Amino acid sequence: REKEEINNLKNKKKELGEINPDEIQSFAKLPLSKRTLKGLKDSNYLVPTKIQRHSLVFSLRGFDVVAAAKTGFGKTLAFIIPLLEMLYCKRWSPMDGLGVLVITPTRELAYQIFEVLKKVGKEHDFSAGLVIGGKDLKFEWNRVSSCNILICTPGRILQHMTENPEFVADNVQMLILDEADQCLSMGFADTMNCIFEELSCERQTLLFSATQTRDVKDLIRAGCKNPVFCSVHEHS
Ligand code: ADP
Ligand code: MG
Repeated sequence: REKEEINNLKNKKKELGEINPDEIQSFAKLPLSKRTLKGLKDSNYLVPTKIQRHSLVFSLRGFDVVAAAKTGFGKTLAFIIPLLEMLYCKRWSPMDGLGVLVITPTRELAYQIFEVLKKVGKEHDFSAGLVIGGKDLKFEWNRVSSCNILICTPGRILQHMTENPEFVADNVQMLILDEADQCLSMGFADTMNCIFEELSCERQTLLFSATQTRDVKDLIRAGCKNPVFCSVHEHS
């Protein structure tokens, strides 16, 4: 049954290129798994915001996306949904290890993303972890190496990559940078470059921030391949 649903979703995703994002009046109109739709509904998310509509039509089809929308416009769900759908459609299992890395500049933002992921992803069977420091590195070791999804801050995830022999990141299928302009700023440059080196190029990359990251050098650095630019300025 699951296989059938996934095939169905694949077919419906092909039609996403022909629809006008502004005509998507509910999440249920999008080709999303039953599990994700239930997570959204139970969290009271029924109508996608503008940045969600405009980015989902591309991110769900596997495109790299560089999206900009002001604080409060709903960027978190705009990347949580494609992350869950990608893993689900690839039938990712606990045995497949780390499949998605979400990087955000601060611990507070990482916590907030983790809470949304837990709520909206509750019907899925993926394991998720928060890697933000504060705890002994060794304490995190085993747990982190068995997660399918990690929400992390740059310094701490790099520490795992370099010091934790259990940690494997070469199967990561999707990299998400939240507050991407901050992640790609001078302050994190060395750290982020080291992280990018650890990841395979065969992945989808999603960048979200309040202002549009258009510096081509930064986009190449982050591994974006012919990204789609989505930018939303007015709320709806
Ligand atoms: P941003 O990252 O763009 O600053 P957030 O993802 O933090 O925005 O979302 C801002 C607020 O909007 C949160 O309280 C979130 O629960 C709410 N929100 C996001 N998407 C929706 C939606 N589709 N329907 C209703 N509320 C939403
Ligand atoms: Mg945000």
